[in-house]
Amino acid sequence: MKEERKVRTRFAPSPTGMLHLGGIRTALYNYLLAKKYKGDFILRIEDTDPTRFVEGAEKYILDTLKWLNIVPNEGAINIDTATGEINSLGEYGPYIQSQRKDIYQEYAHELVERGYAYYAFDSNDEIEEMRGKSEEDNVSVTQYDSKRREYMKNSLTLPKEEVDAMIRNGEKYVIRYKTERNSFVNFYDEVRGYIKVDTNTLDDKILLKSDGMATYHLASVVDDHIMNISHVIRGEEWLPSAPLHVELYRAFGWEEDMPKLVHLPVVLKPSGKGKLSKRDADEGGFSIFPLSWYDNKNEKEVIGLREKGFLPEAIINALALLGWNPGNNVELMDEHTLVEMFSIKKISKGGARFDFKKFEWFNHQYIQKKEDLSIYIKKGIKELGIYCEEEKINNIINLIKERCFFTTDIWRKAKLFFLRPEDYCNKILSDEEIKKSIEWIDCFIESTEEKNWEEDILHATCNDLLQQNNLHLKDVMPTFRLILFGETNGPDIIKSISILGKDETKIRIGLFKKKYLNL
Ligand code: GLU
Repeated sequence: MKEERKVRTRFAPSPTGMLHLGGIRTALYNYLLAKKYKGDFILRIEDTDPTRFVEGAEKYILDTLKWLNIVPNEGAINIDTATGEINSLGEYGPYIQSQRKDIYQEYAHELVERGYAYYAFDSNDEIEEMRGKSEEDNVSVTQYDSKRREYMKNSLTLPKEEVDAMIRNGEKYVIRYKTERNSFVNFYDEVRGYIKVDTNTLDDKILLKSDGMATYHLASVVDDHIMNISHVIRGEEWLPSAPLHVELYRAFGWEEDMPKLVHLPVVLKPSGKGKLSKRDADEGGFSIFPLSWYDNKNEKEVIGLREKGFLPEAIINALALLGWNPGNNVELMDEHTLVEMFSIKKISKGGARFDFKKFEWFNHQYIQKKEDLSIYIKKGIKELGIYCEEEKINNIINLIKERCFFTTDIWRKAKLFFLRPEDYCNKILSDEEIKKSIEWIDCFIESTEEKNWEEDILHATCNDLLQQNNLHLKDVMPTFRLILFGETNGPDIIKSISILGKDETKIRIGLFKKKYLNL
C-alpha cells in the first residue's frame, strides 16, 4: 500500500503589491490544512516578474503573517535586518523564485528536447501583427496557439539547422508549451470536482522568457514538484492556469505525485456583485489590508486593520468563514478549533461575500474575551506620564469594554477617566433639563458626604434620592455624564463615579459649573 503522503502546503504570493484579505485567506487555508495534519506550511516568494515588483511588498507579507500568527515553518521566514535579505529555513531552498533561474532553465530545455515545448523567435511586432491578422481574417483565435504557431517563427516551423544557428548567434527566444491539438485536459479540483478543458481553447503559454527567467507557470509547477507540495490551495483566479499546469505535470512525468488542486471561491464585494477591491474598501470606509502602508502612487497612507483596532485572532476567525463553514452553525472558533474543524470538503464553490460589519462583530466578541486589555490603557497613561493602580485599570476595562468594537476604542473611552473634559458636547439636553439635573446631583453629592464612596452604597443612595424626587436614573444620567466626561453618552454612572472617586467627581462638577454654566 502506498504510504500516506505528508501534507505540505505552500503560500506563494508575488510581491506585486500589498497583501490584502483575499491573499491572507489563501495563506490561512494553507496553514490550517498543514496544521491539521501536522504537516508543513511553506512560504515561497514568486518574484519571476521583476517589472511588477513592488518595493516593500515582501516585508509586508512577512510582517502580516507574523502579526496574524500564520507563521510558515519552512521557506521565507524573515528579513535580515542587517542585509535586508530574506532568510529562509528548510531543505528545498532557495524559496525565492528569482534565485532559482538555473533550475527552471534546465527543466524548460528538457521539455523542448522531449517534444513538449519549442523555441519561438517572434518579435513583439510579429506577434502584434499575428493578432491583427486574426482580427482581419475574422478568426476568433487571436492567441499564439496550436493553430497559429504553424505560421510563426519557431522551432516547429523552421529547419533545425536554422534554429541551431539562431540560438548559436544569440538570437532572443522564448520557450513555449506545445499544446496538443484536438484533445482534452481532464483533471479534478477538490472544490469544483471534475473539469474538462478543450485544448483548442488554450494558447501555447510562454514557459521561459527571453531574459532566461521562467514564467509563473513553469516556476510554480517545477517548485511544487521539487518541494513535494501535496496540496495547491489558491484563489479561483488561477483556475484557468490549471489545465496548463496539469499538462506540465504530465509532460514531466510527475503525474503520480501531482498535488491536489484546491481553488478557493472568489471574495465578493459587500453587495455580492463582483470581486472585492481596494476601491470598495475606500468607498465603504473600511480596510482590506491588515497593516497600514504608504501608497506612493496616490501619496497617502492606507490604514490597516491593525491600526483600525482589529485583533489578529478576530481577523483569523472572520476570514476562515469567508468561503468555508464547518456546517454546525458555530461561528466563534479560536485557532485550535479552526485547525480541528477545517476541511477542504466544506469549502464552498460559490463566491464569499465580504461583510465588514461581520468583521466588526467578531472583533467585538474577541475584545470581550481577551484577557489582557490593560496594555492599551497602560500605553496611554504612560504617554500622559500618569501612574494608575492595576485595580483601577481593570475596573475601567470591565466598565467600558462592552462598548468597544476596536482596540482603539479602549483608550479613547478609558482616557476620559484620566483627563478632565476640555469641552462639553451636548446635542440633546435643554438648559432647563441640565439645571434640574444639577440640583439633583448636588443633593446626591451632599447625601453621600457622610458615607463611604463605594459602589453599593452609592447605588442605594442614588435610588433613594431618585424615588424621593420622583425621578428616574435616565432623567439625570445624560447631564451627569456630560459633567464627568463631556459627552451625554457613556458608561454606567454609579460605576463611573466609584472609579473616579469622590474628590475627582466633585472637581468635575465644579469645573462644569464654571465652564459650562458660568457659575
Ligand atoms: N504567485 C501567485 C500569486 O501571486 C500564486 C499562484 C499560486 O498559488 O499558484 O497569487
